[in-house]
Amino acid sequence: MTFDLILKGGAVVEPHQVTLCDIAVKDGKIVQISSEIMSDGVSTVELEGKIVLPGAIDAHVHFNEPGNVEWEGIETGSRMLAAGGATLYFDMPLNSNPPTIDVPALELKEQLSAEKSVIDYRFWGGLVPENISELESLSERGVIGFKAFISNSGFEPFKCVDNLALLNGMKEISRLGKILALHAESDEMTHHLASQKIAGGQLEPKDYCESRPIIAEVEAVQRAIAYAEITGCALHFVHISSPDAVRVINEAKMRGLNVTLETCSHYLLFNDGAFKEHGVYAKCAPPLRAPSIQQEMIELVADGKIDFVTSDHSPCSPELKDLSNRTFFEAWGGINGGQFTLLAVLEVAKEKGLPLTEVAKLTAEAPAVRFGIECKGRIEVGYDADFAIVEEVPFLVTKDAILARHKDSLYENHQFPYQIAATYCKGQKVFARNEGLSHI
Ligand SMILES: [Zn+2]
Repeated sequence: MTFDLILKGGAVVEPHQVTLCDIAVKDGKIVQISSEIMSDGVSTVELEGKIVLPGAIDAHVHFNEPGNVEWEGIETGSRMLAAGGATLYFDMPLNSNPPTIDVPALELKEQLSAEKSVIDYRFWGGLVPENISELESLSERGVIGFKAFISNSGFEPFKCVDNLALLNGMKEISRLGKILALHAESDEMTHHLASQKIAGGQLEPKDYCESRPIIAEVEAVQRAIAYAEITGCALHFVHISSPDAVRVINEAKMRGLNVTLETCSHYLLFNDGAFKEHGVYAKCAPPLRAPSIQQEMIELVADGKIDFVTSDHSPCSPELKDLSNRTFFEAWGGINGGQFTLLAVLEVAKEKGLPLTEVAKLTAEAPAVRFGIECKGRIEVGYDADFAIVEEVPFLVTKDAILARHKDSLYENHQFPYQIAATYCKGQKVFARNEGLSHI
C-alpha cells in the first residue's frame, strides 16, 4: 500500500499505551501503527521528542455564526481550536441568531460551516419552550443532542425552559433516543439573589459570584436528575463547577441513570482570585469558585469522576465587556478560551501524575463515545487521522498567541508546561506553530 503521510518516531498515545512508533495515513485515515514503517517516497514528518495525541474534541463551543459573527465566527473559531490541538467541535445552538431551534436554522449553520471551518464539526440543537414539535426533525437531520437552560441564558432569542417545558422536552428527547445537555443553575435562586445584590448596589465580582452559589447548581442538577428518572431521558450536564454537583451526578450514575458531565478548563486552572487580574474577562456562569473548590475539582478529574473537559468558549465583542457604561452584572459572561482545553488538561495531568492515556480520554475519546461519533477520538487503525502534536516546552500565553477573534482572555499571561506544535485533521495539517499559520 502507498501512504499519503507518515508520522515518525513520536510518543503515540493509543487508548491503553504510549509507545514510540510510526503512524501511516491514507485517504484521511490511520492505516498502520507500528514501530517502523518504510517511508520511501512518502511525505514524512519526524516527531522525535514530541507527543502524538488524538485530535481533541471540544463538545462545547459558541461560534455565534450566523448573527453574531463579530463575537467569534466559524473561520476564526475553528482556526483557534486547531491551534489548540482540536479537530472536532460541537457548536451550541446559541448565541448564533437565529438560534439552532429548527431545521432551517441548522441548514444555515451547516452551509456556513462547510464553507468556513478548517476542522470537523457537529451541531447541538436547542430545546426552548416553543419548539418541542421541531425536535424530531432536528434529530433526523443529525444534531448530536439538545441543549436547554433552566436558568436565564443571557441571550434573549434563546428562552430558558420552565419545569413543565423541561419535563415535556425530556419525554420527547427520550423518545428520540437523544441526549439533553443542561446548563444547570436554579433560575429562581440566581434571579432572586442577583436582584438583591443589584438593589443593594453590591455590584462587584464577588457579589456576582455570591448571586450564583453552588447550591443553585446542585438544586438544578437534582431536579433534572429527578426528571430523568421519570422520563428516561439521557442527560449531559455542561460546565459543572462544583464538587457537590459532581457527587450528585456520580450517585445518579451509580443508580444506573444515563447521565454524564463535563467541567471546563477554566474551573481547573483558575479560581475567584482571577478577577483581580482579569476582571470581567473572568466572568462566566456558573462563576469561578474559591481556590479550595478548584483544587477539589482537579482531584475529581484525577479520580475519574468527570467524564470530559470542554472549553465553553463563549466570547463576545469588546463593547459587551466594557464596564464604563454597564455594571459587572450587566457585562457579558463567557470565557474566551477555546484554544487551551487540551493544554489545560495536560497541565492538570502533569500536576497530578495522570498518564497521557487519561488526557486522551478526557479530551477526545470520552466525548466521541458519549455522542456516538464514529472513527474519532482514538489513535487506532481505521480511525480518522486526527492528531494533536504536543511538545513539553513552556508556553506563555500572550495576546499575539491567541487566535480567537478577540485577544482579551482569562488565559492571557498563563504559562502552560506544554505547547501545540501542529494539528492534523483527517491527515491534513490545519495548524503548525512554525509555518506561519499562527503568530506563535
Ligand atoms: Zn456554553
